[in-house]
Amino acid sequence: MDPQHAGVVVIGSANMDIVFALDRAPSPGETVLANSAALYPGGKGLNQAVAAARAGAPTAFVGALGSDDHGDALAEVLSADGIGADLVRRSTAPTGQAFIVVDGNGENTIIVASGANATMLNLASEARAAIAEAAVLLMQLELPLPIVIEAAAAARSAGTTVMLNAAPARKLPDEILDHLDYLIVNEHEACLVAGDDDLDRASSALAARVPRLIVTLGSQGSVLYADRVEAGRVAASVVTAVDTTGAGDTYCGAFAAAIAQGLDLTAAAAFASAAAALSVQALGAVPSIPTRARIEAMIG
Ligand code: ADP
Repeated sequence: MDPQHAGVVVIGSANMDIVFALDRAPSPGETVLANSAALYPGGKGLNQAVAAARAGAPTAFVGALGSDDHGDALAEVLSADGIGADLVRRSTAPTGQAFIVVDGNGENTIIVASGANATMLNLASEARAAIAEAAVLLMQLELPLPIVIEAAAAARSAGTTVMLNAAPARKLPDEILDHLDYLIVNEHEACLVAGDDDLDRASSALAARVPRLIVTLGSQGSVLYADRVEAGRVAASVVTAVDTTGAGDTYCGAFAAAIAQGLDLTAAAAFASAAAALSVQALGAVPSIPTRARIEAMIG
């Protein structure tokens, strides 16, 4: 795929997740044995790029990997899904890593070493050109803020639809909010971004600030806002959830693909919701992201 003609450009993080399963997390100074340890591709940017590509959109990824084994492995993950990776920088910094400890109660403790992701401070001219050619730019908040601001402004001035999944949540500067066409947040992120603990008030405040807002509510589905007011709700399919890691990423990537392909807000959200419901039924973030055929079969 020519990255200059991508339907969706995702700019964001790519990490190798190193997951240790153990009975009890160690206390300071203590050594414990894990029951298992495994590597999984991750990072919100990479997950969302895979979700957009599997949902059927020509997809390019703008990000940074280290010149190391983890970087090679993540480059293979991108290429396995046909994601244009010409815009991925190889940094002298190591590939981003997330050390995830899952204890016997299913509680997660996570340490992230941003590594190469933190070197993404500004847009290369090729990335700027790809964003200008794309239908949709999809971003999250795991890269340094200056590149998110730069990409949003570049997309806006080129007429590319700008989508932000504000995760991990933080207060957003006007330089980002002013350029968004779509903001996607879960309930915690909605409250944090709006600076209001009350979800209804937070959602109303955000809906007044961006043209389109989606608040995802886990198994309760998602609420859509357009032109300041609630424009609909999408119920989540009733499924047996095995692992909800990456549900939001799957939703965002599939939603971006659907908007790039011309669906309206409600239809795109229904498509994204079906994709996310499929993703929670299997283990792991990337392995559980469904293909377009499976999403269409679920929608019926
Ligand atoms: P995040 O992963 O960012 O916390 P949510 O938990 O809100 O995001 O999930 C995003 C979307 O994934 C939801 O709006 C819903 O469509 C779908 N989803 C999440 N959990 C479930 C579930 N248990 N059953 C069905 N769909 C789910």
